[in-house]
Amino acid sequence: MSPYTIAVIGGDGIGREVIREGVKVLEAVAGRGLALTFEEAEMGAELYRRTGEDLPRETFDLCQRTDAILFGAAGLPDVRFPDGTEIAPQVTLRFRLELYAGVRPIKLYPGVPSPLRLPAGRTIDYVIFRENTEGLFASRGGGAAVGREVAADTLIVTRKGTDRIARRAFEAALGRRRRLTCVDKSNVFRSYLFFREVVQEVGTEFPEVTLDGAYVDAMAMYVVQRPWAYDVVVVENQFGDILSDLGAATVGGLGMAPSGDIGDRWALFQPSHGTAPDIAGKGVANPTAMILSAALMLRWLGDRHKDPTAAAAGDRIEAAVAEVLVAGGTLTPDIGGRASTAALGDAVASAL
Ligand code: NAD
Repeated sequence: MSPYTIAVIGGDGIGREVIREGVKVLEAVAGRGLALTFEEAEMGAELYRRTGEDLPRETFDLCQRTDAILFGAAGLPDVRFPDGTEIAPQVTLRFRLELYAGVRPIKLYPGVPSPLRLPAGRTIDYVIFRENTEGLFASRGGGAAVGREVAADTLIVTRKGTDRIARRAFEAALGRRRRLTCVDKSNVFRSYLFFREVVQEVGTEFPEVTLDGAYVDAMAMYVVQRPWAYDVVVVENQFGDILSDLGAATVGGLGMAPSGDIGDRWALFQPSHGTAPDIAGKGVANPTAMILSAALMLRWLGDRHKDPTAAAAGDRIEAAVAEVLVAGGTLTPDIGGRASTAALGDAVASAL
């Protein structure tokens, strides 16, 4: 129960800009039985450039001892490890804290322009459950290269990893429209066939949920042609990474796409976007994804601690965001307005 201590990590680029708005909104929603304290920490590419460490011990310890982690974004294209890959401490945290469920709501809010022309009465509202700790990402930091001639990364699918993400996805479907779509490439690869088989096995324990499947290539078309047909989607790590950005594009872009990286003990909440070096420092990044991630965090705390006050505060944040978006006066440029990051954050805070 409250008070909850939240680890706050801005990271790099617009991560630092949007997280201020996330904290602003959390401070505005606190009170009335919900107490929040914040502890800041550092990780990311700038830190690595300065100190040679991207995820210091103190930050990792803080993540383990706080109730939840609120994160901006990390990584800069020109800051790399000696093997040539980018600094991505948020991915390291997923593995080290076993944050196996990448929960990514794809929702179109009234007032936000979508590049899709939706038929009357249709909207977009589904949630992607991305497996977060294996799949192609299991090869991170590994992989093999033979000189400058050959390079290989291995895709790993385990029963344990698939079972636990499938369970989370079915449970979420139970609380929604009771439909789950397993997305894979099981027509070609044994690993994806195994993924689908395990999802089907878990499905026998959830007879109230209708399970169907789609190959990822077709799914890329379906989420553009008929996104309203989906409720909950369960998918391997790499495909989920790609599909969730595509989904974000249909609901106004990455600035509209929140996420939670959730395990059995810890959870981290962050916008689905990166550090956006092209707009960093200009004060125009859309903080909505960050603010909605803070709302997901409160709902998760509410669920975990059986604390309806925290869950209701999450709902209030989402309602305030919806109110501000439909009013339209303080939208950032990516969603058709001219307001600044701070102006949108202020508007949500005062709507609360
Ligand atoms: P990105 O998400 O940073 O940006 C992609 C595009 O979306 C850019 O045009 C950007 O301006 C726009 N965009 C993103 N967020 C926005 C927002 N809130 N408001 C308005 N526009 C927004 O992806 P990228 O350019 O491929 O990556 C940049 C850096 O971020 C890379 O170093 C990458 O590794 C890192 N990255 C980090 C994370 C993370 O921390 N979780 C995720 C993805 C990428």
